[in-house]
Amino acid sequence: MHGFLEADEVNHLNIIFLGQQGSGKGEYAQRLKDKYNVAHISTGELLRDEIKKKSKIGLKVEKIINSGKLVSDEIITQMLKKRLQKADCKNGFILEGYPRTIKQAELLEDLLSSLGKKLDFVINLVVSDKMSIDRITNRRTCKKCGWVCNLKFIPPKKDGVCDKCGGELYQRKDEKPDVVKKRLDTYNAKTKPLIDYYKDMPFFRNVFVTSSKDLMKQKIFDIIESVKS
Ligand code: AMP
Repeated sequence: MHGFLEADEVNHLNIIFLGQQGSGKGEYAQRLKDKYNVAHISTGELLRDEIKKKSKIGLKVEKIINSGKLVSDEIITQMLKKRLQKADCKNGFILEGYPRTIKQAELLEDLLSSLGKKLDFVINLVVSDKMSIDRITNRRTCKKCGWVCNLKFIPPKKDGVCDKCGGELYQRKDEKPDVVKKRLDTYNAKTKPLIDYYKDMPFFRNVFVTSSKDLMKQKIFDIIESVKS
């Protein structure tokens, strides 16, 4: 290992993060984005942005998301197609939340090949149900700036108040225990089979989630370097 690659040494880095809710996909995707100057694409975030804007799509998907079900392939794939064509995907992307079904994996393959892109890695973050539920149901988000904390693991300094901007903290509807259960059921039925779909491909890696974030970061960076160097 010769230290980490610098952003300008990476031609492209196209990664999918798989893993059930609460595995830390978003957080580690953000860290890779900062390190390698690639786009971080979360289809859940794309949808939540539409809901915030009260756009046509947002109005359509809000109920579906709050019930823990999946949005249609058509809506989500169209959104992803647009997003992948933005300039910040030039060096690559880290995609989380898509694909969520085998059908979406097939659609992604077609989409990437139509855009002249290919996958470098599929990284599957493996986490226990208990850790997953603990992490999601204790998560709180700031209404004003979007800061996210966890009542159990990284509690706010003052109850119900954002450390960053003093805004009000709230629990997302889809992070309440009954919806989380539904989301995990959906994950097990529809998304987990993706592990079998990708597992024999040379670019597939499992990473077992530990509570040490530094160790996790190191494991993920090591995977990227082992192939790129
Ligand atoms: P996430 O933040 O990735 O857990 O996504 C939140 C919600 O958005 C999910 O529970 C789904 O309702 C919806 N969603 C996100 N990505 C997809 C996708 N690829 N296909 C279908 N629905 C999705």
